[in-house]
Amino acid sequence: MTNDQSNTAKTPCPTCKAPTSMETPTAPFCSSRCRLVDLGKWMREDYKISRELKDTDLDQLE
Ligand SMILES: [Zn+2]
Repeated sequence: MTNDQSNTAKTPCPTCKAPTSMETPTAPFCSSRCRLVDLGKWMREDYKISRELKDTDLDQLE
């Protein structure tokens, strides 16, 4: 972690809106967790469009 605030552009993380440096390995997300959350969000949206997720679907994942 550096403390250089002079010339570091920051963008809000798409997931949690935290200011995120573009030097972050997971940019524009502040962390890999937020990146996964955003990815999961899109996957769930896709599920909603195609069909409802049922309990039996979860059983098949086990
Ligand atoms: Zn975030």
